[in-house]
Amino acid sequence: MTDTLTPVLTDNWDAERAWTLASYEEHGGYAALDTAFAMAPDDVINAVKESGLRGRGGAGFPTGMKWGFIPQDNPKPKYLVVNADESEPGTCKDTPLMLASPHTLVEGVIISSYAIRANTAFIYVRGEILHVIRRLQRAVQEAYLAGHLGKNIHGSGFDLDLIVHAGAGAYICGEETALLEGLEGRRGQPRLRPPFPAVAGLYASPTVINNVESIASVPSIIANGAAWFAGMGTEKSNGYGIFSLSGHVTNPGQYEAPLGITLRELIDLAGGMREGHELKFWTPGGSSTPLLTPEHLDVPLDFESVGAAGSMLGTRALQLFDETTCVVRAVLRWTEFYKHESCGKCTPCREGTWWLTQTLAKLEKGEGSESDLDLLLDQCDNILGRSFCALGDGATSPISSSIQHFRDEYLAHLSHGGCPFDPAASTAFA
Ligand code: NAD
Ligand code: SF4
Repeated sequence: MTDTLTPVLTDNWDAERAWTLASYEEHGGYAALDTAFAMAPDDVINAVKESGLRGRGGAGFPTGMKWGFIPQDNPKPKYLVVNADESEPGTCKDTPLMLASPHTLVEGVIISSYAIRANTAFIYVRGEILHVIRRLQRAVQEAYLAGHLGKNIHGSGFDLDLIVHAGAGAYICGEETALLEGLEGRRGQPRLRPPFPAVAGLYASPTVINNVESIASVPSIIANGAAWFAGMGTEKSNGYGIFSLSGHVTNPGQYEAPLGITLRELIDLAGGMREGHELKFWTPGGSSTPLLTPEHLDVPLDFESVGAAGSMLGTRALQLFDETTCVVRAVLRWTEFYKHESCGKCTPCREGTWWLTQTLAKLEKGEGSESDLDLLLDQCDNILGRSFCALGDGATSPISSSIQHFRDEYLAHLSHGGCPFDPAASTAFA
């Protein structure tokens, strides 16, 4: 590890039994809570605003601004909901965070709830990751027993109940309004926005929904000050973040670094691409973000620069593929995922993702013609911007960007009468 890394959230991951309250407190855990309680709730919101923290779930919406939208004159209860339904392909930062250091999240939940004046908070976590659910439940139990949760926390007069809720394994429930539907006991399908959850969310009450990493970043901001956080990263993308490297890299895993680090630097930190191979294409933030190529290795990984390069920073799920990977096959595999996960509420996505897989599968087998590429792009045009939520738009990203960068490879499937790659050479999508 070099000094390019800034371990804050990951700092205690290697500590012995890091997930226990004793270990967390030994490393200074729950001290930020008293600092927050000594501040007025609005001052906590202002500190988060000044820090420049932007949502770590993918969209990058300013966290403090979102908290400021909660109408405090509304007599209804306020809620905090942590979106722990991490499901974007390649995204694997929240799950290890909750597993290694669940109390960082719990402390963040308490401070954030205090700021927005919520007395009930939820962590909505993927139902498939039972071991993480158990770990969170244990951490919450420990926090209650130690007086960090419940009535009159630390003598502050502030009460908070925290409920760990297991989802039922649908990608769409990571979409914040579908998540609320699920939490209320209904089928997970998105709601029309506006109203945004900040105005009418859980049980039609003002609700802040934030990603795990966003909330887990709050204790460090309160402990070290907004300027400390704002001093890291780039001008408009402040602070640090967890970058998840996966695929054909020597040491895949989570690398915590200031926003604005480049993929070239991260690959160096991860020991390079697998020996003897070269990067062919990559996703900056999961498969919903347009593919990039080696020509983008020096693009700073911040919201603005990745956007200017034609993609999105998203969840910083860096999936790396070397020259042995068939891009058409990779894109087909992702598209099958979107087809499977489409919730069916709107026609462009429900029908469109089915048609996308049909056309792609034909091309991958070398059975189509060049006009099928135009058909594919036309199908994307009929989904992008016409779907009810971001899932439909995201499904088109790998297709249109792969045709933009690798049109010749699609054509090679047609001239070859099938995939020209040796499937045994690549471990991707095996
Ligand atoms: P969005 O930009 O519509 O909203 C982002 C957040 O800001 C939401 O919480 C929303 O309520 C809030 N917001 C936006 N405008 C607002 C306003 N005017 N008033 C009040 N609140 C407002 O993005 P989204 O559709 O919620 O999420 C899309 C992102 O999710 C994508 O960028 C993608 O990277 C990411 N994603 C993440 C995962 C994952 O596993 N973490 C999975 C799929 C997609
Ligand atoms: Fe459901 Fe897809 Fe429409 Fe979103 S875009 S509402 S996932 S059918």
